[in-house]
Amino acid sequence: MAAIALDAADRKELLARFLRYVQVDTQSDEDSKSSPSTEKQKNLSRILAKELKDLGCTDATMDEWGYVFATVPGNLPAGHAAAGKVPTIGLIAHVDTYHGTVGAGVKPHVIENYRGGDVALAGDPRQVIRVADNPNLPRCVGHTLISSDGTTLLGADDKAGVAEIMSAVAWMRKHPEFPHGPVRVAFTTDEEVGRGTEHFDVAAFGAKYAYTLDGSDLAEIEDETFCADSALVVVEGHDVHPGYAKGKLINAARVGAAIVERLPKDFLPETTEGREPYLHPYDVRGSVTRLEIKFLVRAFTEEELHAREDDLRRIVGEVQDLFPGARISVEVRESYRNMAYKIAEDSKVLEVAFEAVRRLGLEPVRRAIRGGTDGARLSFMGLLTPNIWAGGQSFHSVQEWVSLEWMAKACEVALHVLQVWVERSAAGRGK
Ligand SMILES: [Zn+2]
Repeated sequence: MAAIALDAADRKELLARFLRYVQVDTQSDEDSKSSPSTEKQKNLSRILAKELKDLGCTDATMDEWGYVFATVPGNLPAGHAAAGKVPTIGLIAHVDTYHGTVGAGVKPHVIENYRGGDVALAGDPRQVIRVADNPNLPRCVGHTLISSDGTTLLGADDKAGVAEIMSAVAWMRKHPEFPHGPVRVAFTTDEEVGRGTEHFDVAAFGAKYAYTLDGSDLAEIEDETFCADSALVVVEGHDVHPGYAKGKLINAARVGAAIVERLPKDFLPETTEGREPYLHPYDVRGSVTRLEIKFLVRAFTEEELHAREDDLRRIVGEVQDLFPGARISVEVRESYRNMAYKIAEDSKVLEVAFEAVRRLGLEPVRRAIRGGTDGARLSFMGLLTPNIWAGGQSFHSVQEWVSLEWMAKACEVALHVLQVWVERSAAGRGK
């Protein structure tokens, strides 16, 4: 059997796929209520369904939400020790790009054999990818790098993941001698607006375990996300003609300001990192009569999350005492939970990923995401889904870039994952 490695032709195809996909505008829209949030995401989904069909996935379809599902049937011969025993494995990436940075008119720029140093972007002289801000740049000397021209994002988040999965499917087709179990592929919409799994039918997908290819650095496996809630503070004041307001007017804007001002300075996203929790007042709007403050609450454990929410309630209580005439309410809503809670229930899915990374001669780096992923939500919907690197750097910015070599390694690690599952199943450790 051929060793799992992309050859020069495979890499060329991987690059061509990636360049093709990033030029399709798939920006999602935070304010849209429809699904998908933007119809244009389907433009890429349609291309992917067609390409999957061309690669032999006869059941490839795009549904009304813009999700693409496809199967690479298992190919183990009847006598194989793992035949009938390998769990169906899902490979997942998202087609949409971040809503806050221009995603239309991407002009990808390819640097072959990167020599080191800062990278100036041709479309905007103010945009320079600096070594000082990108500690991974020196790790990529000699690689093929891809960036935008500095006027748009690149969209490696997550079209790198999409291209890697497509290349894994293409590689399996090219190497029928590579034994693998059933593989399900999913490309989802609206990940960037937190709705990537809203219509994801886990039962119809039918995978036992899955992996998203949506991370960043080579060898990184992410099995932890934040526990996330949102909180809404509503202040109701009392408006009176300001000329005759003495002793009567209660200004909701001042009440809200007092709440924001009292938030401890070491609780904020701009003052925290690593495993530290935060409380983030990200949207304040209103008037004298009524003011709303929206908060994000984030922590790696539910205990820390609830402690921050209690802090918010305490602060609101203090401000209520200062403005007895105002009516202040706090409403907390659950967003998602740390997927580590779920993965701990069946850690095989993670062990396989680590083993696959080691087979590339790399030491796996386990990382916690200061955010959420579709995989976190899927894990709570019953499909355990850790996240594998896709290679992209400086996500969501016009200085986004990616190394083709890291993308190729991500594609290879996905193939190794499939192989490790076969071996474990043959040894009776698959299920
Ligand atoms: Zn992403």
